[in-house]
Amino acid sequence: MVAENYKEVEERVKKACERSGRRREEVTLIAVSKTKPVSLIREAYEAGAREFGENKVQELCEKWEVLPDSFCWHMIGHLQRNKVKYVVGKAKLIHSVDSLRLAEEISKEANKKQITADILVEVNVAGEESKFGVCPDEVEDLVRKAALLPNLHICGLMTIAPFVEDAEENRPIFQELRKLAVDIKLKNIDNVHMDVLSMGMTGDYEVAIEEGATMIRVGTGIFGERNYAL
Ligand SMILES: *Cc1c(COP(=O)(O)O)cnc(C)c1O
Repeated sequence: MVAENYKEVEERVKKACERSGRRREEVTLIAVSKTKPVSLIREAYEAGAREFGENKVQELCEKWEVLPDSFCWHMIGHLQRNKVKYVVGKAKLIHSVDSLRLAEEISKEANKKQITADILVEVNVAGEESKFGVCPDEVEDLVRKAALLPNLHICGLMTIAPFVEDAEENRPIFQELRKLAVDIKLKNIDNVHMDVLSMGMTGDYEVAIEEGATMIRVGTGIFGERNYAL
């Protein structure tokens, strides 16, 4: 089941790349494995998945512990400062940095471990009350301040678009995130790259690819519905 799903998503990613004149290698497919057991994660790996996304620190750590290093982990969920020490060094990329205080904590921990932590700034483009992320007009300020921190590398931006019936409704959201990244890139801030755009989930990843996503985060489309009651 997971293998078939993965192949289908992969096929749709390929087509979306073709439609938009992009190379397949420009888009990283992150298999969002939250709430899913290690057995299914291995199935996805067998089908070709290498990058996995988790939104809870403890779950990421448990899976990181039992699976080999060839599985790469992305922290895509809200991160509390007191849990930063557990993910730095385990997550290849932290997608959800939404405050200077969090960036400072990541920097401090990376410094302690003598590594560089790669991060994205999460932007609440749609302005939804329920979502984390900084508002679009605060992004540049946060990026400028975080860029001065040691052992931290800002790679781009991330957004979680609203849940919609028709993916087209999210096209303007993706366009806005891309525009924000382009604008910041033009300012040539030291230690800031805007090469990564993490946007698009099961319902809208094809539209996100058309609008320039370089990372898409697909959970349900690969692993099926999540059952939080378990
Ligand atoms: C759960 C989650 C996803 C995947 O959502 P699906 O709709 O299942 O593809 C993507 N991004 C974030 C931040 C998530 O928490």
